[in-house]
Amino acid sequence: MSKTKAAVILMIDAEGEFSRIAFNPKDNLLHKTKMLISRLLNLDYSINTFVKMLNILNKYNFPATLFIVGSLYLEKKNKYLLKEYLKSKPKTRYLFKNNLFKIVPCWGSYIKKQRKNKLFDFGIHNFLHESNFAESDKQISRAIEYSVKAAKTIGITPKTYAAPWFKLEEAKNPTRVYNILKKNGITATRFDGIKETEKNTITKSESIKKIFSRYGINCINGSHFIGNGKINKEEYRLIKKGIEKAIKTNTIYAISTHDTTFVRHGIKHFENIIKLIKSYNKRISITTLSAIAGKR
Ligand SMILES: [Zn+2]
Repeated sequence: MSKTKAAVILMIDAEGEFSRIAFNPKDNLLHKTKMLISRLLNLDYSINTFVKMLNILNKYNFPATLFIVGSLYLEKKNKYLLKEYLKSKPKTRYLFKNNLFKIVPCWGSYIKKQRKNKLFDFGIHNFLHESNFAESDKQISRAIEYSVKAAKTIGITPKTYAAPWFKLEEAKNPTRVYNILKKNGITATRFDGIKETEKNTITKSESIKKIFSRYGINCINGSHFIGNGKINKEEYRLIKKGIEKAIKTNTIYAISTHDTTFVRHGIKHFENIIKLIKSYNKRISITTLSAIAGKR
């Protein structure tokens, strides 16, 4: 029997500017203008980068785990779940807009076309990108339940999860989110460390490990986070080093990033990283979180 290969997993949080509808102070004027026009005409500019990334992944035949904000799974013609969700949504610190129903973009018709693509593991990232630490148990329960429901409207049954703002587990009530995930058929999550309080830093997270179980949910540590879309040779060197370490120790190198990371500088950096990982194809298995979790 052949020895198990080390693996690389690419995880993308897909939120289409969701966490900052519509502007970020760092956005350039061109971006702001496009967003504004898109909003005024009720178009969706935010999907562009996501589509470009998926095109690159398709081009290199490269698997990825996509944690998509639940409401984005909806099709434009089919937004009733959003309406229903907003009706019972109490005021929170996060939701500062009252015209959310209109401005939440719908990616459902695009995602639907990709749903049978074996490369992609479609996961969830809360329904409106809510922070697990800022909302009540009941609201987080709804956020996860509605995300699964939204994905199901286009024929996807999500099995994986990533917490928005990297806020998964709090020291004072560690089982909370895991229990909600279990109840909704989610079997694996990115593990973002344990936080003492909302403001505290991650106490442990970034490392190259095998998959492990926490309160009945499969977890994977992030090994590297791509936080900037600018071409960065030092980052290529770091990723190479990490993959080589994973090969040596027969572990999983998990790269995490966002679609929004590549909005401002284009996606050349993303493509370079994909090519770089792909060059290790014979020595590692490039796979998804579902695929690995499913084997356990
Ligand atoms: Zn996010």
